[in-house]
Amino acid sequence: MPGPATGLPMPVLDFHAHFPARPASPPGDPVRAEYVRRHGEARWAVVQKWLEADLAAWRAAWGFPEPEPEPQGGDAETAARWAQEVERHGLARVVFVTGGGNDRLAAVVGSRPDLFVGFAHHDPFAPGAAAELERAVVHLGLRGYKIIAPLHRQRLDDDRLAPLWETAERLGIPVLVHFGPLRYQGIVAGPNISPLVLQDVARGFPGIPFVVPHLGCGYPRELLHLMWVCGNVSVDTSGSNEWMRWMPYDLDLSSLLRRFLDTAGAERIIFGSDSSWFPRGFARRYLDEQFRACCELGVSDEDLRLIFFGNATRLLGLRKEASGQPANPAIAKPPPP
Ligand SMILES: [Zn+2]
Repeated sequence: MPGPATGLPMPVLDFHAHFPARPASPPGDPVRAEYVRRHGEARWAVVQKWLEADLAAWRAAWGFPEPEPEPQGGDAETAARWAQEVERHGLARVVFVTGGGNDRLAAVVGSRPDLFVGFAHHDPFAPGAAAELERAVVHLGLRGYKIIAPLHRQRLDDDRLAPLWETAERLGIPVLVHFGPLRYQGIVAGPNISPLVLQDVARGFPGIPFVVPHLGCGYPRELLHLMWVCGNVSVDTSGSNEWMRWMPYDLDLSSLLRRFLDTAGAERIIFGSDSSWFPRGFARRYLDEQFRACCELGVSDEDLRLIFFGNATRLLGLRKEASGQPANPAIAKPPPP
């Protein structure tokens, strides 16, 4: 069992990070491809400029350095830098929810299975998506599935996805689904922008533990409604949660966390950082602010342990592994480094 993270009274597992694989292999950026097909490269450059200015202002506000244009070295070097971050901050593990495709991320995770966990991430509407999920979990050793819902033009509750949900339920893996604005793609609308589209899926497949990130990402009321009726939906805390600035009423981290604690309890709140690029590495500031907010709300030591460690290890099946039992019989031992 790893020791407590530096300065914090319990072990910390980061449930939501992105392995910075560049150039990103498929699934790539379908939004850019579609925009350029319809409107051309010149207009794409104009709308990108708006987003770049906004991103720069956000980084300045948080004191984050500019990302390296390309990670230096290959995946092995980036993995070594990430391993240093995990050890430096005393994290139990970090979960990479994306990372350049399933095979590539599985190789990264296999290089340090004691520190890294990886999720499958591929187009849920692609032919064979269910079989690919099965392959990613059973043969590659990935432990969950990530979907970025607003990137898809067809609704997530479409019957076509039933085989995918059946596979996830049978494998017993968590499914992390992003809803709400996508800063990098400039998306704030579409059929999968609100977490309410998950209602029939979550109720239809109660064996799937769904996790919706970023404390609802602009849709806290919708997510609270969903979590109120669906006991298999959890929330992750990851990111700066800057979306609170665009709510039509005052909202801060503490008041938001309190709503989720009141509605779902500490058992369904999971710490994540949304860390991705270097030189920032692990976004320690998010951990410190979220820990402080929980303490100010009077969250008990037992519940702090759930939020920052225990819930994630339960969903990932790591608790059983620590006790010597196979974590999830469906998940293969990661390939040796
Ligand atoms: Zn993320």
